[in-house]
Amino acid sequence: MSRPLPRATAETAPFWESCAEEKLRYQRCARCGAVQLIPRALCSECQSLDLNWLDSDRRGSVLTFTIVYRAPSESFRSELPYAIALVDMDEGFRLMVNVSGGASAALQIGSRVSIGFRQLDGIAVPHAEVVE
Ligand SMILES: [Zn+2]
Repeated sequence: MSRPLPRATAETAPFWESCAEEKLRYQRCARCGAVQLIPRALCSECQSLDLNWLDSDRRGSVLTFTIVYRAPSESFRSELPYAIALVDMDEGFRLMVNVSGGASAALQIGSRVSIGFRQLDGIAVPHAEVVE
């Protein structure tokens, strides 16, 4: 069974295209300054259409995480156990990512992480690595 992969939409295509270049991009509203990721056509704070794409420095802190011991489908079974974290990025947006070696004791709430990219069936997908 093949692994489910992200599918780009008109709104998310710039994000996935930047991942292919190993860049993590997010949106910032030109009107109110709010930052957001998941990409949207409108600012989630003021509904402005005037959004800019910016490059992240790819550093953040773990807000919370979980260790997955039961795979949601057969295609994830070979990776067990694996970790998924919510990361508060330094620029102010939040990202949900898998964590490399995430079942290790190094992963804790508040851990500093760096976002890198992993190739999954031809798509570059962000993942986190604990750096401190
Ligand atoms: Zn706004």
